[in-house]
Amino acid sequence: MNVHEYQAKEVLARFGVPVPPGEVAETPEQAREIAEKLGGKVVVKAQVHAGGRGKAGGVKLADGPAEAEEKARQILGMTLVSPQTGPQGKLVRKVYVTKAVDIEHEYYLSVLVDRANACLTIMASAEGGVEIEKVAAESPEKIVRLAVSPVAGFSPYLGRRIGFSLGLSPDQVKQFTKLLSGIVRCFLETDASLVEINPMIRTPEGEVVALDAKISFDDNALFRHPDIAEMRDIHEEDPLEVEAGEAGLNYIRLDGTVGCMVNGAGLAMATMDIIDQHGARPANFLDVGGGASKESVTAAFRILLRDPDVKAILVNIFGGIVRCDRVAEGIIAAAKDVEIGVPLVVRLQGTNHEEARKMLEESGLPLIVAEELDEAARKVVEAAKGGAR
Ligand code: GDP
Ligand code: MN
Repeated sequence: MNVHEYQAKEVLARFGVPVPPGEVAETPEQAREIAEKLGGKVVVKAQVHAGGRGKAGGVKLADGPAEAEEKARQILGMTLVSPQTGPQGKLVRKVYVTKAVDIEHEYYLSVLVDRANACLTIMASAEGGVEIEKVAAESPEKIVRLAVSPVAGFSPYLGRRIGFSLGLSPDQVKQFTKLLSGIVRCFLETDASLVEINPMIRTPEGEVVALDAKISFDDNALFRHPDIAEMRDIHEEDPLEVEAGEAGLNYIRLDGTVGCMVNGAGLAMATMDIIDQHGARPANFLDVGGGASKESVTAAFRILLRDPDVKAILVNIFGGIVRCDRVAEGIIAAAKDVEIGVPLVVRLQGTNHEEARKMLEESGLPLIVAEELDEAARKVVEAAKGGAR
């Protein structure tokens, strides 16, 4: 789960990470009041779950309360389009008004999970503020990477090594080490999967501050952090993914034309690969889970069909825990509830699959039955290409 910048900073501040003071506003008038409280120059920042806001006109400096109100009026309600939002952009519903800080230098800092080495990795660069992907591609030597040993945990030595390599002075390295230890503690204690500070800055007075913040939390651990789970903003999520989550389905929307309904994540991945090999792209990842009941199959059809890009559907279910005839029953019942309207290819293998096949064939439903995965993929790709929708 991702959260907004203002929420990420609130969490980081609990761990002693220095962030500029600020408050969130939903109206231009509120933005003015916050600016009055903060005093001096402020920054008005669009709160959407995407970076690249600065270049997209979503981060604006204001001299005082009146200007803060004006900038908030411009930003609130805008559809912010950045490389991270996709071409459709994101509607801005909230702005964060923070005290403006003078910047002498912008750095990049992040902590993430290094799966290959099974530990946390700290990444830092003196080339901050810009897209780190660009730095990584063009001058990877400007990024420092250091592993945090799961046995030893965070040690101030890590802060000193990275701090000095960023060119910080001994006093700034001390501040940086404290900031970094706060971030690592925050990461571990909140079950985060990414903490990214871009930019972390050095002020002309030599202070080190987190000016922007992004945190992703591990969904599977949210039950341990009800305060963080409450920070969820479903406006920022794909509505189909939200609905799927409520129906207990694991669904991720993708950009292809073949809707997939599969049980088990491994089989779902294999199904997506084979669709790709046959020359089409999957419209989604969907794992209906072990049960594949009538209810979950119906919900899955509803969600797949709400995506206008879906030109054909492939149901690929292995009857291991669930019997194929039960799944066939589910498909037949679901087809009565939901108007499918696109070609439907069904492949059921495993327990009672002959019986299931017979049921599907006798159901009178206009579906295409397949035995082998390769055959199923070929048929669904053909159907999607000649798609009726
Ligand atoms: P992003 O574009 O979505 O990553 O938003 P950021 O929070 O990183 O802000 C973008 C840029 O705005 C930063 O890299 C800074 O250059 C600038 N900026 C943000 N806050 C301040 C501030 O308090 N003072 C100054 N001078 N610039 C700021
Ligand atoms: Mn940023």
